[in-house]
Amino acid sequence: MSEIGQTQALRTQMHIGGRWVDAGSGATFESTSPATGEVLGVLPEAGAEDARAAVAAAGRAAERLAGLSTYDRARLCHGVADAIERRREELARLLSLEQGKPYAEAFGEVGFAAELFRNAGEDVKRLETRIIPSADPRKRILTIRQPHGVVAVITPWNYPVGIPSQYLSASLAVGNAVVWKPAPTTSLVAARLLECLLEAGVPEDGFNLVFGGAEVGEEMVSNPGVHAVGFTGSAAVGAAVARQAAAKPLLLELGGNGPTIILDDADLELAVEGAAWGAFSNAGQICQSSERILVDSRVQDAVVEGLVRKAGAIRLGHPLDEGTTMGPLNNEGVAAKVDEHLADAVEKGAVIVAGGGGRVGGFPTRLYYEPHVLDQVPLHSLLNVDETFGPVAPVIGVADLDEALAIANSNRFGLACSVYTSNLSRAFRVAERLQCGVVNVNESAAYWDGRTPFGGYSGKASGVGRLGGVAVIEAMTQLKSIVMHVGDGVL
Ligand code: NAD
Repeated sequence: MSEIGQTQALRTQMHIGGRWVDAGSGATFESTSPATGEVLGVLPEAGAEDARAAVAAAGRAAERLAGLSTYDRARLCHGVADAIERRREELARLLSLEQGKPYAEAFGEVGFAAELFRNAGEDVKRLETRIIPSADPRKRILTIRQPHGVVAVITPWNYPVGIPSQYLSASLAVGNAVVWKPAPTTSLVAARLLECLLEAGVPEDGFNLVFGGAEVGEEMVSNPGVHAVGFTGSAAVGAAVARQAAAKPLLLELGGNGPTIILDDADLELAVEGAAWGAFSNAGQICQSSERILVDSRVQDAVVEGLVRKAGAIRLGHPLDEGTTMGPLNNEGVAAKVDEHLADAVEKGAVIVAGGGGRVGGFPTRLYYEPHVLDQVPLHSLLNVDETFGPVAPVIGVADLDEALAIANSNRFGLACSVYTSNLSRAFRVAERLQCGVVNVNESAAYWDGRTPFGGYSGKASGVGRLGGVAVIEAMTQLKSIVMHVGDGVL
């Protein structure tokens, strides 16, 4: 059980201009554990004024950060990775308690975050630009990559250490100053992650952390002192952020709705393994989860049986208890959405083959949710149409590949898909035709190695731009062209 929970609540301040501070208004909010309901910490609740102070501080630090050499910034990235690794257990424990995921998953996420900082430190050293052949022999044209200046980073609660680390590592690597606003329900672990940056010696006023909700986020995005925005969150808020940010460079990583496609020639054991992992790890609160499983009807029964077995093997429990494989959902909003989607599917004719009880009693909070498998999910049900974000594996039978592609591509989302087949050329053709940013072949939709370009398909509601390795490093920079008149060659 939690030492944090058993002792007194943590008090954590915001970090603005190199100092840990309270909100100007003195307002506070509590971070409660979805696992126990206990108050883990009391945090300052920022207003627009605090966000403005953070933006101003970042603005003062931006030139200094940009002025560090690439190798100095790379060393800082490795220093942050070292600090995260040193504090890996402590971070994982708090992440688990505050977010709700099992300790083993939290431990993996923290390790992943350290790797992101190491990768950014290496990728930035290999970032090269071009000399462009000129039409005029008296000119030389070259491009350089420069930081944006001040970047607003706004992140969600489902991977509260891993997702921010993408933006923070790339920003540090290229020399942006940052104002970061984590989701309110995972603000405590955010403060611990920021401490790792400070321990590594990053310029203290260059990395600012503010807590709060929409008011703070809106101020950050629209403030003229912010030059670019990195946002991960829901499609609805992402659309609002895009409007507020107007013409600023934007990286938007938004919702997803799968699907996972299982063809009749697939290795079914592998397919069931990947689909179940995508549906149930992190209690299904993954933008890349197996939100919909489109199965060739010839193998549908076998897949459903396999998923039922997987759901039955899950051990729901306190995230810090050894043996727990699924913890509670993070908050009431997400639990209510899962309730709504399940009720809607059943009303429209879906058949529940595993679960059916919804929230499970006997735990300290109402956020523990039974894993569900549903078969014969109708196309007009919310499970197929919308993102559910819970421990649900909805199966939809399809007659053939064309039907699977039509259903997959008719969705408004287009983030990460997966296809299972033993026919390589079929896999490739499906991958080319799926309207999503990432296609995993014979691998779970939820798989991502952190350096693969990752983001939404054009014209869909899943976002704009790409995270991942060199892609996010480039996204955190702007390209400048320098044209030099060198004359006619007379020395
Ligand atoms: P959310 O959109 O509710 O909140 C995300 C962040 O935006 C939070 O920090 C929130 O406080 C802030 N925010 C809220 N209103 C705002 C506003 N008006 N202006 C600026 N900021 C505002 O999302 P969530 O519930 O925290 O996260 C779940 C969502 O995130 C899901 O839809 C999921 O698919 C998506 N997600 C996407 C990816 C990806 O890489 N594409 C990864 C993880 C999660």
